[in-house]
Formats: sequence, structure tokens, C-alpha cells
Amino acid sequence: MAYRGRFAPSPTGPLHAGSLVAALASWLDARAHGGTWLMRVEDVDTPRCIPGADRLILQQLAACGLASDEPVVWQSQRDALYQAALDRLIAQGGAYPCACSRQDIERALLASGAPRERHQAAVYPGTCRPENGGLQGRAPRAWRFRVPDAARVDWTDCRLGPQSQDVARAVGDFILRRADGLWAYQLAVVVDDAAQGITHVVRGEDLADNTPRQILLQRALGLPTPAYLHTPLVLGDNGEKLSKQNGAQALDLSDPMAALNAAARALGLPARGDEPDAALRGWTRDWALSTAPTR
Ligand code: GLU
Repeated sequence: MAYRGRFAPSPTGPLHAGSLVAALASWLDARAHGGTWLMRVEDVDTPRCIPGADRLILQQLAACGLASDEPVVWQSQRDALYQAALDRLIAQGGAYPCACSRQDIERALLASGAPRERHQAAVYPGTCRPENGGLQGRAPRAWRFRVPDAARVDWTDCRLGPQSQDVARAVGDFILRRADGLWAYQLAVVVDDAAQGITHVVRGEDLADNTPRQILLQRALGLPTPAYLHTPLVLGDNGEKLSKQNGAQALDLSDPMAALNAAARALGLPARGDEPDAALRGWTRDWALSTAPTR
């Protein structure tokens, strides 16, 4: 199958050194496999999006020699696709409406005597599952995916190796459509990766733990599972992951080679002194050599 990769930033701010690592790695992996590289703007979480950040990200990538091989796609224009996927899940009993507020969930967890937490997010106790009585007259707020019982997902990451997660225990029934009507990342990313024929997902390691949820959704929707490679995270001086939330600096467009060299270093690639296009060709060869035996 022809390789198709993608970079899928959320336009919540300009690219920073951490996001460039994922962009560069996905581009190099696509080129090293003679594949196609796509850009997708993940702007479904509209309250977090910053007007103009999408254009700025595209400019920053272009300055680094990274341009989408096909027209850029904006998730905010793909409502109908996500709705069709949700409808399909509902029709097969794989999704159900949920009336619980955050407080309802906390109360139910406390009452059960087993508050379970994951990354500060409560594991949904299944209050609105049809077998537990469903909405019981309450107004629906969100839609949740019905995680199959004993849903242990085993998958192999091309960099991190074998991974495993019991999604029912670790995450629980997760949101597909939020109470504010917005599509959840998990549903949108799975629908779009399939709709765009993505065969290889290369993205930051902070997203690795979403993969089992995405694999479950792919299975429920009858969609193929791409190969996954999660790239090393760039840590700031405080030892924390660089992110827009903790104020990572925007990439300096006036010196794309400095930005590219820093990203290449994070990927274990040698520094290069050329201009971006020549450097990218050199790193593509390095990448092809370093990944050839395993992929
Ligand atoms: N939009 C996500 C982010 O910027 C990335 C999603 C993905 O690559 O799967 O964190």
C-alpha cells in the first residue's frame, strides 16, 4: 500500500520547537518511504483555536521546506463525516448519550467508593450506559463510546516498541461529541486518518496514550489501523514538555535552519549547515538508513 503520512497540528498557537520535531519526523518518514505527506488543521476545539494560527503554522512549515503534497484540510469543515461516523456507532450500539456533568461523575465515583483517576480525568463510571438505565429522563449532554469490556489493546509503536492498555479500566467510556456540541479529538482524528488514507501516523510521544482509544474506534467503525511512530518530546529548561500551554516560544521564521537543526538533534540526526531543502534531503537519507531494518 502506498505510504501516506500527515502532520495534524491544532491551531492553538504558532509552531514551537516541540511541534516542529513531530512535523519534521512525519515529513522525513514519508519521504524516506517515497510516500505522500499531508497537512491537516485540527481545529475542532474552537474555543482553544487562535484566529490566524493555522496560516502562521503553514508559513512556518513552508519556511522550513515542509509543504503539504495535497490541499490542506480543516477539520472544522468536515462535520458531516464525523456525524456519519457517530450515527454508525449509535446504530450498532457502540455509542450512547450521556447526561452526566463533571460533578455527577465525581459524585458517582465517590459513592462507589472507588474513585479512579487518570491524568486528573475521572474514569467514567458508566452511569448512562443503557444497561445501567440510560438517561433516566435526564437531558443528554454528550455522546460516549461504549468501550467493550476487557478491551485490552496491544499495539506496537515503531519507536517505543510493544504497548498495551486496558482501555476499559484505564480510560473508560470516552467522549465522542462533547456537551458543548464540539467533536472530540478521538473521533475526528480516527475518521480523518481513514478518510485521508493515512497509512503511517508519526506524532509526539505525548499522544501515544491516545492510540489504544483510536484503535478501538477504528475497529468499531471497520477502519484500518495505521502504523504508529511516536517521536521524542522536547523538554524545556524546567524539564517539562514544551507546549503552547506552558508558553513555548514560537519558532523564529528568520532562522529556519536553526529551528530545523534543533528538531533534527531531538531525532538523533546530525546537524547540517545547508539551506532547508538540501538539509532535508540529507536527513531523509539518514532517516531511511536508521529505520530500514525495522520498517
Ligand atoms: N492535533 C493534535 C495536536 O496538535 C495532534 C493529533 C495527532 O497527530 O494525532 O496535539
